[in-house]
Amino acid sequence: MATEVISSKPVFSHPALALYGGTPIRTRFLPYGHQSIDESAIQAVVQVLRSDWITTGPKIAEFEEAIAAVVGARQAVVFSSGTAALHAAAFAADLEPGQEAITTPLTFCATANCMLYQGARPIFADVCPDTLLIDPCEVAQRITPRTKAILPVDYAGHPAALGEFMELANRHGLVIIEDATHALGATHKGRRVGSIAHMTVFSFHPVKHITTGEGGAVTTDNVQLAHRLRKFRNHGIDYDPQLRQHHGTWYYEMVELGYNYRLTDIGCALGLSQLRSLEANLARRRALADRYTAALADLPGLTPPVVHTDVEPAWHLYPVRLELAKLRVGREEIFRALRAENIGVNVHYIPVHLHPYYRARFGYRGGEYPVAEMAYEQLISLPMFPGMSDSDIEDVIEALRKVMSYYAR
Ligand SMILES: *Cc1c(COP(=O)(O)O)cnc(C)c1O
Repeated sequence: MATEVISSKPVFSHPALALYGGTPIRTRFLPYGHQSIDESAIQAVVQVLRSDWITTGPKIAEFEEAIAAVVGARQAVVFSSGTAALHAAAFAADLEPGQEAITTPLTFCATANCMLYQGARPIFADVCPDTLLIDPCEVAQRITPRTKAILPVDYAGHPAALGEFMELANRHGLVIIEDATHALGATHKGRRVGSIAHMTVFSFHPVKHITTGEGGAVTTDNVQLAHRLRKFRNHGIDYDPQLRQHHGTWYYEMVELGYNYRLTDIGCALGLSQLRSLEANLARRRALADRYTAALADLPGLTPPVVHTDVEPAWHLYPVRLELAKLRVGREEIFRALRAENIGVNVHYIPVHLHPYYRARFGYRGGEYPVAEMAYEQLISLPMFPGMSDSDIEDVIEALRKVMSYYAR
C-alpha cells in the first residue's frame, strides 16, 4: 500500500492581501491628502462671484494681511501658485545667470526649478539621515563666491535648521528662501515659520494646509523685498501710487520683466475662510501624527519620522521609512499592496537630480546624494489630512499591520 503523502499545509495566519485577491481593508479609497471645504467657504466664494471684483480687488490685501498675521511677518504677497511664489522669491533675491543657489534633492522639483527660471544653477546638498532635512554642514561645503541663496525645505512640515542657515547667510551675505510649502503653522524655537527666513514661501494647493484652489505666498519682514515681489507678480509694472497720481491714473511703467502671477479674489475669499480653520486643522494633523507614531511602536519594519525637540511640525505629510532588511520585498511591492487595500499611500520624493531633465542637463547619474537616494528607496507617505476620521486612521494602521506582517522576513 502506498503511503499517503500529506503535504504540510501552510499555516494561514495572514488574511489574504487585496493585492492577491483578498478583501481590502477599505471599500473606499482613502487619499493621502484632501482639502476641507465647509459651507461658509462656499458662501464666501459665492459672495465674491456676486461682487464687482473677482480678481485684484479688496480680498487680496485682506488675505495678505491675514497670512502675514498668522505667521508673524510684516508682509505677505500672494501668488497664483506656490511655484510662482518661489519664482518671485528667486527674482527678489536677485538670483541671476552665473549664480548658484543650494537646496535639498529630497523635494518637489519646483524648489530647484525656480533657480533655473532665473538662469541660475541649482546646487544640491544632501539631507540629514534622521530628519531628512537639508544638512547645514553639507550646505556650508558647497558655498562658493557664486552662491547667492539657500532654499531649505521644511520637509513634511518639520522646520529646517533655520538658525544654522541664517548664520550661514550672515557670514556669507546670502539670502535664505525657505520653502515652507509643507509647513504653514509650524514653529521653530517657538516662532512660526514665515517670520524667520528672509523670505518664506507657502503653497495653497488643495493638499496643503489651506487652499485657494491654486495659490501661494511669500512672507517677509523686508518692505523692499515685498515691493519687488508685488512688481514681479504683475508684469514688472511699478505700482508706486505716488507716481500714478503724478502722471494721472492711466499711466503706469513696466520697469522689469515680470509675469502674470496674480491670485484672484475668488481664491483669496476661499483662503480667508480656510484660515479660520487653520488652528483646528493643525491640531487634528498633530493628533493624527501622534496616533501613527504610537501605532508604529509595535509595527516592526517601519520607522516613524524623527522630530526635534525645538520644533512643532505642521505635518503636511507623515512619511515613514521601511526597514528593508526586515522585509522580503522592496518599497514598490509594499506600496502596491497598501494601494490594493485602498490606502492612498504616496512617495515624497523622487530626488530632484534623478529626474530625466536634471540628469540630461547636469549629468547626474545617481550616487551623488547617497542619504537622499537611500531614503527615497524606503519612503512611504501615509494618508494625512484633517478630514480623516478616527476610523480612517485605524484602517491605515490595520492595513499596515496586515501588509507588514505578510512581508516580514
Ligand atoms: C507644493 C509644493 C510646491 C509648489 O507649490 P504649488 O502651489 O503646487 O505650485 C513647492 N515645493 C514643495 C516642496 C511643495 O510640496
